[in-house]
Amino acid sequence: MTNADWANKDFYKTLGVAKDASAAEIKKAYRSLARDNHPDSHPGNAAAEERFKAVAEAYDVVGDPAKRKQYDELRAQVGGFGPFRPGAGSGSTFDFNDVFSQGGTRTTGGGGFSDLLGGMFGGGGGGARTRTTSQPRRGADIETEATIGFADSIDGVTVALRLTSDAPCPDCSGTGAKAGTLPRVCPDCEGVGMRVASVGGAFTMNETCPSCRGRGLVVDDPCPTCHGSGRGISNRTISARIPAGVKDGQKIRLKGKGAAGERGGPPGDLFVTVKVAEHPLFGRRGDNLTLDVPVSFDEAALGAEIKVPTLGGSPVTLKIPPGTPNGRVFRVRGRGVKRTSGASVGTTGDLLVTVQVQVPAVLDEKAREAVRAYREATGGSDLRANLFEASRSTP
Ligand SMILES: [Zn+2]
Ligand SMILES: [Zn+2]
Repeated sequence: MTNADWANKDFYKTLGVAKDASAAEIKKAYRSLARDNHPDSHPGNAAAEERFKAVAEAYDVVGDPAKRKQYDELRAQVGGFGPFRPGAGSGSTFDFNDVFSQGGTRTTGGGGFSDLLGGMFGGGGGGARTRTTSQPRRGADIETEATIGFADSIDGVTVALRLTSDAPCPDCSGTGAKAGTLPRVCPDCEGVGMRVASVGGAFTMNETCPSCRGRGLVVDDPCPTCHGSGRGISNRTISARIPAGVKDGQKIRLKGKGAAGERGGPPGDLFVTVKVAEHPLFGRRGDNLTLDVPVSFDEAALGAEIKVPTLGGSPVTLKIPPGTPNGRVFRVRGRGVKRTSGASVGTTGDLLVTVQVQVPAVLDEKAREAVRAYREATGGSDLRANLFEASRSTP
């Protein structure tokens, strides 16, 4: 055992105790681990034997007050209890000191655990093990969808959004261990989640620890709710204001309504993709509303004043001049969509009314007589005459 070896090993982690653990705690942890991994109970199991050796080596140092003092001083010089392993990637620390320093004993470290594990579920997962637990961290952004009515999209609306996100299992606070128990530091990787695999010769590479699948913890007695995964689902309902004038497919950002931050970090944002339901009458083109209105032949020919509905307001009277063709668009100012952004914010778009001249499908005898009289009165003019003129003269 040389000092260089000491610098590279975290004996406290190996024993699963805090670095300020009492001698009695260290002894207790050592006895339990040595018993669990004793070669007599695992004949031929090389991994157990390795663990047993590692535990014995660790206890040989930190179980001896003089050696422990020396070891602590050396470790402080080489950068404390962070990772100092030439073979492991830098920054791959998994700081169990937070966990076990609370109250000194393993059974009262629950607060530390939930704090620690909170980090695993915050932002996209996966990389949690490579973070230290001391930094405040901004909460994750959350995306969701909301379907709102057409009229609500014009006026704005407050909606209740039910958000489902990954969260620590409520029954075990995310530890994955049955109530009253705690996971222990993985003895194979000493809580790092990675281990150095020998590829042959002088080459080594890091691989995810197979014993804990990279978690750094092993659970002896799994939580029945989450089956040891520590994962749960959080449901919460928040109310969100969808601004007036929102378009179908538009993404609204609600600042600070995302996942909660950790260790005093700010919350993330919530992005709501808004789906706007179709209206049976009104359509939308930019900031204008559109409406198709049927108009009878006589109204179009003779002119008329017709009443048209507006969205969420009183009907307006529209003057159809004599001789209005099918498909003409009339503009009713200020009855469209309120502009909430851009240069003309605060103003309102228009209602565009398209007239659709109707041809009666069925005529009674009196009406048919009248239409015949109309034909006679307008007889002689051929609407299609210049179609043929033009087709002959086309070069
Ligand atoms: Zn492991
Ligand atoms: Zn659980």
